[in-house]
Amino acid sequence: MARTLCMTRRTAGAIQKRPGAVIHLAPFLPNASLMKFCSNCGHAVVLRVPEGDNRPRSVCDSCGTIHYVNPRNVVGTIPVWEDKILICKRAIEPRYGFWTLPAGFMEIGETTAQAASRETLEEAGARVEVGELFSMLNVPHVHQVHLFYLARLLDLDVAPGEESLEVKLVDEADVPWDDLAFPTVIHTLRCFFADRAAGRIADSSFRLHTLDIDKPMRPLTSRATVTP
Ligand code: ZN
Repeated sequence: MARTLCMTRRTAGAIQKRPGAVIHLAPFLPNASLMKFCSNCGHAVVLRVPEGDNRPRSVCDSCGTIHYVNPRNVVGTIPVWEDKILICKRAIEPRYGFWTLPAGFMEIGETTAQAASRETLEEAGARVEVGELFSMLNVPHVHQVHLFYLARLLDLDVAPGEESLEVKLVDEADVPWDDLAFPTVIHTLRCFFADRAAGRIADSSFRLHTLDIDKPMRPLTSRATVTP
């Protein structure tokens, strides 16, 4: 039998494999990901390390399903029109009222480039020609990988979608740096403008930008209650 940890007691955020030996769940299975009932059969699940595995999973002993929780892809674009880029003001939490690049969760059955194009249309009403992948940013504490593509805006017929309050074209001087929603967006835009200034966008000589963001943004505020 493979090394299997038998969970005899579970406390908040931790499991015990034997007296005095506690595995902290945080790096493996955050509380938000804990499930109580099997989504396949409805039976109560238990948290344990499956045989041959090395970390705790929600396991259904009724139907045998092991419920794996894996990171999700957030995919978006940097929509470019001449010397400007298109940004969206968020109409949803988190970071309601802050500005962002059009992006969202990838759906089953689509490619990353298709997801980027769809999200740009949904959030900004914008049709784009998706170009090269520009940045890939790991955000492990929220279980996400963010991907941003360069994109060429095909026309100026844009409008905020359900998840946006407003969309606008800005040049570098008008980017609301203090009101950007997420560090992945800030990093991507800094790299974009640096590459553009150096001519690396024009001749496609830029390299893929990567970054690991391992700390939460504090405070994760909203502009929802701010009175103009
Ligand atoms: Zn089940």
